[in-house]
Amino acid sequence: MSRASGEQEPRLRVDVLTLFPRIFEVPLEESLLGRAVAGGLVEVRLHDIRGFASDRHRQVDDYGFGGGPGMVLKPEPIVSAVEALEEGTKRVVLLSPAGRSLTQALVKELAKESWLVLICGRYEGVDERVVGLLGAEEVSIGDFVLAGGEVAALAMLEAVVRLVPGVVGNEESVISESFEGRLLDHPHYTRPREFRGAAVPDVLLSGDHGRISRWRREAALEKTRRNRPDLLGDGPPGRASE
Ligand code: SAM
Repeated sequence: MSRASGEQEPRLRVDVLTLFPRIFEVPLEESLLGRAVAGGLVEVRLHDIRGFASDRHRQVDDYGFGGGPGMVLKPEPIVSAVEALEEGTKRVVLLSPAGRSLTQALVKELAKESWLVLICGRYEGVDERVVGLLGAEEVSIGDFVLAGGEVAALAMLEAVVRLVPGVVGNEESVISESFEGRLLDHPHYTRPREFRGAAVPDVLLSGDHGRISRWRREAALEKTRRNRPDLLGDGPPGRASE
């Protein structure tokens, strides 16, 4: 399923292997992802793993060797689906809670690729041989377990696509946010100046860019200490996003 409609070559092509392609339909039509796809900057192709099952019953899962509850996704349909793609250098990612963590640094790396293949598991997961046979890297979006890789793939996709050049209009908003330094983003405020007795900090209305910048750095530091002290480690804090 091709979703590009623009004239130019997409900067990024993503092939998604899933048992539930419909999960992707609305997210790929709305907001940032929708614009990137409609504008032809990004092309996402959805592949139903079941379509690559070779047996009569289109079986994609089976009992796990060694016993235990739950079904395991069979390797053949997934490997066949990837092998059916055109020739070319692809970075293959298997979404898995047992993978390395998805960080902004990894997102940036992925955004530099021109072709990604995302494999979404289900049930107990995917036959381990898929990793070696496809040279796939396992990536987790967090230390929790989802029912399937689709939501994880969408999270990764959105994070990556917003870094593809041309997708986010104001590049500044991409470089000045959480995880760009060692601090989280500073708090943001908009109108009204007062809401239910809570006022916007005066400094933000001062027009003094130096003071605003210092305040943002302090506020970012305070928020990082409160919410993510692990980011600060032992060394001196990095720059605030400003
Ligand atoms: N048995 C697996 C385990 O304990 O590691 C959990 C399998 S999970 C129920 C089914 C599928 O959801 C996985 O194969 C993976 O594709 C996806 N998934 C679940 N949690 C995820 C996470 N945190 N990050 C990425 N993918 C995840």
